[in-house]
Amino acid sequence: MDTTPSTPDPATTKVRKTDEEWRETLTPEEYRVLRQAGTERAYTGEYWDSHVKGSYRCRACGAELFTSEEKFDSHCGWPSFWAPLAEDRVVYLHDRSLGMERVEVRCAACDSHLGHVFEGEGYDTPTDQRYCINSISLTLVPEAD
Ligand SMILES: [Zn+2]
Repeated sequence: MDTTPSTPDPATTKVRKTDEEWRETLTPEEYRVLRQAGTERAYTGEYWDSHVKGSYRCRACGAELFTSEEKFDSHCGWPSFWAPLAEDRVVYLHDRSLGMERVEVRCAACDSHLGHVFEGEGYDTPTDQRYCINSISLTLVPEAD
């Protein structure tokens, strides 16, 4: 008899919560950024200058989104990655707020706001893309050594 519990894969499982439930599980600042597409102030987040090896998960639902392998020093004040862990982990939305044409990046599993992606800025990375992500949208899980 197979008694292995089937754990849902957070990368493919859609997380659906009501606004009320998000407010209960997130801090007010997390809620503002993740659920209302806010932005933390530059150089104030936990991870913009972190070089710890590990994986970065969605603070709202726990899906693995980025790894330290693709993180680079952009000096922009937010954690920056040149690619997500896999393309299916994130979704893109055109954002025309603030009079700018930007591409918003959201968690594919729970639809929470992560940040924006910019490209062609001349960074010396394999993609020349910069996923500019709020620290507060992420939880770093350090690699076990
Ligand atoms: Zn998520």
